[in-house]
Amino acid sequence: MSERDDTEKEEKPNEETPNISSEQEEVEDCDMEKIRKYLAQKLRLLDSSDCDEQSHQKVLRELSVDGIVNYIKENENCKIITMAGAGISTSAGIPDFRSPSSGLYHNLAKYNLPHPQAIFELDYFMENPEPFFMLAKELLPEGFKPTPSHYFIRLLWRKGLLLRHYTQNIDTLERMAGLPPDILVEAHGTFHTGRCLKCRAPYTLPWMKEKIIEGVIPKCEECNEGVVKPDVVLFGEMLPERFHYLTDRDFAQADLLIIMGSSLVVQPFASLVDRVRPNCPRLLINKEKVGMQDRLSRFLGLRQGLIFDTRSSHGGRDVAWLGDCDTGCQLLADKLGWGDELKDLVKKEHERLDAENTKKN
Ligand SMILES: [Zn+2]
Repeated sequence: MSERDDTEKEEKPNEETPNISSEQEEVEDCDMEKIRKYLAQKLRLLDSSDCDEQSHQKVLRELSVDGIVNYIKENENCKIITMAGAGISTSAGIPDFRSPSSGLYHNLAKYNLPHPQAIFELDYFMENPEPFFMLAKELLPEGFKPTPSHYFIRLLWRKGLLLRHYTQNIDTLERMAGLPPDILVEAHGTFHTGRCLKCRAPYTLPWMKEKIIEGVIPKCEECNEGVVKPDVVLFGEMLPERFHYLTDRDFAQADLLIIMGSSLVVQPFASLVDRVRPNCPRLLINKEKVGMQDRLSRFLGLRQGLIFDTRSSHGGRDVAWLGDCDTGCQLLADKLGWGDELKDLVKKEHERLDAENTKKN
């Protein structure tokens, strides 16, 4: 969330012209390819992967979920990175608060925010933290349970296949699903911990929760002055150091990238998909295709964005499975032979969390 994402869509030059027929497009593509190669060579823009013989070998036998499943089965010690956005938490009942249509912003009308996103801006927060905490009260991880998608990620970890899980979510459901903190990168921070903005004294979720639910702004008990801000990354704040350190290390060694429930528009998270090796397969599980290579990048031969339905001779490496994340994850688990294990895990864990909640109330 370090940069605003509300203008991204309009700026993307990848809108296909609707009245070009596919035949025309193919001819155009063919010409484009020639020009692209010429320009790329002249300008030395040619992606090294284009010259790399290895990347010309087919990495997936077929561009489908089955192709991905075979790839996992055939690669012992396959190192998988998962990347997730709000889509893996929606079935838990957590509203996608970034979307102005979620209705959350209606409740904030009385605060006269200069614009809805102001609620997530550090400058505004310093001035007036009240709207943020009002929203936090509604978003607080209270009674929410991780989804089958979360438990699928935990299964990957349990099978020794998960290199790291990168999440844009601040709902702490990954932790609740039992993913250990060292396997987790909460790119946009978390509600799990907080800090006094003045003296940096650390606070825990239960402490902050109590204040937020009471409707008071959490004030530091050490310096009696600073506001305690949950460690979520607001616009205008740096991403956690851990994010930069680990992305540098992880993406270069990943064997497979699975992206779930993210619209891939918020940077720098979105461009992580480009950081894996050129022959690393990428599976998108999402309601719609996102994060695709735009025409300019394609023209210049830049390795940027996902390329579905490729016409390239070496077969491509990107697969999109369209639908909701839980269904996609269950399908993957089924095909990997872990279908029942996933269902059992979800059932047991939900029962455990329900029992815990009943005890608390
Ligand atoms: Zn303090």
